[in-house]
Amino acid sequence: MPLVIAMDGPSGSGKSSASKGVARALGLRYLDTGAMYRAMTWWMLEHGVPVEDGVAVAARALDPEIACGTDPDAPTITVDGTDVSGPIRERTVTNAVSAVSAVPAVRARLVELQREIIGAGGIVVEGRDIGTVVVPDAAVKVYLTASEEVRAARRAKDLAADPGASVTVTRAEQARRDRLDSTRKASPLTKAAGAHEVDSSELSLAEVIEAVVR
Ligand code: C5P
Repeated sequence: MPLVIAMDGPSGSGKSSASKGVARALGLRYLDTGAMYRAMTWWMLEHGVPVEDGVAVAARALDPEIACGTDPDAPTITVDGTDVSGPIRERTVTNAVSAVSAVPAVRARLVELQREIIGAGGIVVEGRDIGTVVVPDAAVKVYLTASEEVRAARRAKDLAADPGASVTVTRAEQARRDRLDSTRKASPLTKAAGAHEVDSSELSLAEVIEAVVR
């Protein structure tokens, strides 16, 4: 079985930078599963599907064609052939993604696609359920955390890209998303059995990467 490194944790824990860095350091591919849930959500919004209606979302879960590139230096994501790497980071998508990702039919579809990509060779995979559901027998499982203060500071940095959102509103939206992601019935965010917990609060990015590689 190819080397699979599962990187799970809440948003703001530094998963993306760390996962790409580990993939580069070890010459592995990289998969951002959060981008896939975001792409699914973007498509639902584009097609006027009421995202809070789980039955309506489930009925369309097989329709979008989602494809991901796995180069850690240039990860790509397309839906029906359209590059959505920009739009999936917009606030409307961010605020709808937890509802869409709680729908079992969405998860079944995306987990299948993720396993197909993972099966093609060594890879670092970041998400919420990689070590618990997608690849429970991954060689290395990491649960990345950070203190609320540090996560808030990282969020504030991201705000530069979205001047419409205040720090207070963004913090509240983030807290809501984390609550929904960790309390939903389908694959809630939890630390996988056998996962190494890495607290990135006091570590530089290089130190986090080093800890995971070690
Ligand atoms: O990682 P990111 O914050 O971009 O993920 C966006 C959302 O996708 C999460 O808030 C969560 O609802 C969902 N997600 C998930 N399972 C994963 C990855 C992401 O449910 N493996």
